Amino acid sequence: MSFKYADRLNKLPRYLFAELDRLKSEQIAKGNKVIDLGVGDPDLPTANEIVEALKVAAQDPSNHTYPSYSGMDKFREVVAEWFYKRFGVKLDYKKQVLSLIGSKEGIAHFPLAFVNPGDVVLYTEPGYPVYFASTIFAGGIPYSLPITAENHFLPLLDSIPETTLKKVKMLFINYPNNPTSAIANEAFFRKLIDFAKTHNFIIAHDAAYSEIFFGQKTHSILEYEGAMDVAIEFHSLSKTFSMTGWRIGFACGNEELIAGLGKIKTNIDSGVFQAVQWAGIRALTLGDVLTEPLRKIYKRRVDLVISILSRAGLEPFNGDATFYVWTRLPKHIDSISFTMKLLEHKGVVVSPGIGFGTSGEGYFRISVTNKDDQIEEACDRIAKAVANM
Ligand SMILES: *Cc1c(COP(=O)(O)O)cnc(C)c1O
Repeated sequence: MSFKYADRLNKLPRYLFAELDRLKSEQIAKGNKVIDLGVGDPDLPTANEIVEALKVAAQDPSNHTYPSYSGMDKFREVVAEWFYKRFGVKLDYKKQVLSLIGSKEGIAHFPLAFVNPGDVVLYTEPGYPVYFASTIFAGGIPYSLPITAENHFLPLLDSIPETTLKKVKMLFINYPNNPTSAIANEAFFRKLIDFAKTHNFIIAHDAAYSEIFFGQKTHSILEYEGAMDVAIEFHSLSKTFSMTGWRIGFACGNEELIAGLGKIKTNIDSGVFQAVQWAGIRALTLGDVLTEPLRKIYKRRVDLVISILSRAGLEPFNGDATFYVWTRLPKHIDSISFTMKLLEHKGVVVSPGIGFGTSGEGYFRISVTNKDDQIEEACDRIAKAVANM
């Protein structure tokens, strides 16, 4: 027998990173030492305090049942407290906060609540592939807004044709940005809120990297006037607290948007394991005590990468946030050939820019989620590879 995938799956682009994984395994099987600066998954372990909170909660049978769909009151209350302390924004945790099984889960399900077939969903690109995929799954039409160094990696809202604007239901943005590391300024957020109100669309802001900043603190879109009328923001404990495997995050913002996402989720999942929510409570309560040391480590590593690549004649972009470094390749070389050659000849994995969308062509992304000495060694090898191009 043979079964064909549904059309929606055939509409997704090829998953380049799977191919890189295969090449990587091949190199390792040959006995070559490979340094992986590809995936954005922290090498630093989850803090002990968080692990201890999970242990205690896991031993309590009252945590073994189905959790509440929207998240424990205590978890959402602590989220609201953290949000106020961090951004100065007051959230009604009962209506404006929803627990997620990681922010990816929320982002992937959100369009199902609001996008009808034929509705246009804007998304910044290069970017996290889930915005495109979740739009397709909802029957929507993805419309890419390229973000480039020339525009400070912010989308040009005025470039969207009027006929498209009429059909726009939703916009995905992501700042601090993966893969470029760019942050958005206040003027951009304010302009965007006005624009969304004028054209009657939803803003979905992916703030997964809100706590990985090195200069000034980054902002929540909900800090700005009118945002609560049009915006939902996705937060994650994954990158903030080195908790990628735990699967916990939250959505917050406009209460109708939160309720819509909640309706979808009650039909798909049954909430986050309460012991994991207790661990999340511990993490958010400790907050900066845990995140400040992580920021120091990432900053040191980002600086290291930037200094080695700059000496090699490349121009890595320094957005002062996230654990990524986004670098333009020499003009004549495309991102796939570069990454494949780098892996084959130098045993280093980086992410090809085109893996984040066609506007990422001509770039590569380094993730500094590896030990300092490994990062240094890998960058020295990249420098050598570039010198021979
Ligand atoms: C890692 C990441 C996420 C998802 O993180 P979760 O582990 O699902 O919370 C969301 N958006 C971006 C841009 C990411 O890089």
